[in-house]
Amino acid sequence: MTAPLSRARTQILRVCASAAQLSLALDFDGTLVPIQRDPHDPRLSRAQQRVLAQLAAMPGVTLSIISGRQVHDVESRVGVRRAYYAGNHGLEIRVGGQWCVRPAVRWARVIRRAARDLRGLARQMPRLLVEEKGPVLAVHYRNVPRTRWRAVRAQVRRIFRRYTHSGAMRIQEGKAVIELRPRSRHHKGWAVQWIRARRGGTARAATVLAIGDDATDEDLFRSVRPPGVSIHVGRGSTIAHYRTVAPSMVWTLLTSMITLRKAVRKEGCVTRR
Ligand SMILES: [Mg+2]
Repeated sequence: MTAPLSRARTQILRVCASAAQLSLALDFDGTLVPIQRDPHDPRLSRAQQRVLAQLAAMPGVTLSIISGRQVHDVESRVGVRRAYYAGNHGLEIRVGGQWCVRPAVRWARVIRRAARDLRGLARQMPRLLVEEKGPVLAVHYRNVPRTRWRAVRAQVRRIFRRYTHSGAMRIQEGKAVIELRPRSRHHKGWAVQWIRARRGGTARAATVLAIGDDATDEDLFRSVRPPGVSIHVGRGSTIAHYRTVAPSMVWTLLTSMITLRKAVRKEGCVTRR
């Protein structure tokens, strides 16, 4: 049962501040920034960038931004160099401007073909946003009148099914978005585990704090083991431990975490003396 974040905030902060190794796995849209009509709009403020940069620079902390956007897209919107970035729900991973996991070119070819098949529908519906994201094709219908959402989804699914017959591709739905993507082991939960393994040493057993708002974040939440914590932002069903209403609460939590983690380290030094 998912409990309100407010009820466990202090306890979560204590877990995250005292963990020798902490892996922060944060989604972007709907989690760090409110969802906007135009997906090109969301960006972090300077102050928010500073919060993430501080966290990423803290000893024992690994910061990962794990998004459905293409990796270079989310990387440019967040702009914190020390963070790991997983794009397309874990199909691609970068850190420090270098590739770690890169999807095969063959997927992009399939996606280009599927995007061509969608052109007719996109012409009929100018508010439909078709986005080619390398190995993933996303159709955003947030700006289409709500009364037409069901019909749009059915039409897009019909076109995507031409590519799912072989079993190599699959359809995935999110908040007002429907995607065609490779069927692979890569998902958000896989990405956070991969990053922990890459960090190696004690970071392999890092305590995970996972925060997300959409269907694909459930994969992330599923990968969290005790004493790790998962937080869902917004309404809707979830397997996350806790729920909060808006991205602003996520920032409050992250900011408090910096203060408390610093305090715990300082106290630790005093104790050792
Ligand atoms: Mg999201």
